[in-house]
Amino acid sequence: MMQKRKNISWFLGTLLMMVSVFLGATEAYALPVTGIVDEADEKSIRGWALNPSDPLAAVEVKVVILNQTSGQVAAELYTTASQHREDLAAQGTGTGDYGFEITVPWETYGNGAYLVEAYAAGQKLSGTKVHGVGVTVPVTTLRSLGTFRTTAYCPCRQCSGKWGGRTSTGTVATANHTISVDPRVIPYGTRLMIGGVIYTAEDCGGGVKGRHIDIFFNTHGESRNYGSRSAEVYLVP
Ligand SMILES: [Zn+2]
Repeated sequence: MMQKRKNISWFLGTLLMMVSVFLGATEAYALPVTGIVDEADEKSIRGWALNPSDPLAAVEVKVVILNQTSGQVAAELYTTASQHREDLAAQGTGTGDYGFEITVPWETYGNGAYLVEAYAAGQKLSGTKVHGVGVTVPVTTLRSLGTFRTTAYCPCRQCSGKWGGRTSTGTVATANHTISVDPRVIPYGTRLMIGGVIYTAEDCGGGVKGRHIDIFFNTHGESRNYGSRSAEVYLVP
């Protein structure tokens, strides 16, 4: 009799464990949030966001505005995606009540080019926009290539050996411009935006393999300060 009871509690314990593992797994496979930043103009930022796991709930959206030159965050604005969008309803996207529009006090951020990104449930929506304040920037949508490991180098012997400031494509390495890449992953001549700065892939290095980008700095101190960071990389058309 004792033996049997022991077996039952063992069975219940195992069952509980399996259920919690299963629940953990379902959470990991939660459907990703979908949505996009459609437009950023001098008045507002517009887009939509939907959580397919809970299509009747309005999603909280965080809009992040970054200075394209410095990479600094100019503002984080919050709104709820609950406006009716006939285009979404017409294409069969749930109720269609997933639109958002947020007024932006651009004039308070100062002149410059700004990147507009939006997040919902901790995930980035597609469609990064560029908006200029007092400057003209081409209206483009930057495509994210995802996260890369980024490191830094300089012309010193320790970083560049006998190459110095010369790149493998024959150019003179320039700060805020030159990056070293694995040309099998990023072809030479590709323009990438990292941390708000637009770089050109024009160098390679023995230690730069796969999804790794080495950023050129003028001095060893600056490159040492940069260290190693994971960064989202955008393809600039
Ligand atoms: Zn160095």
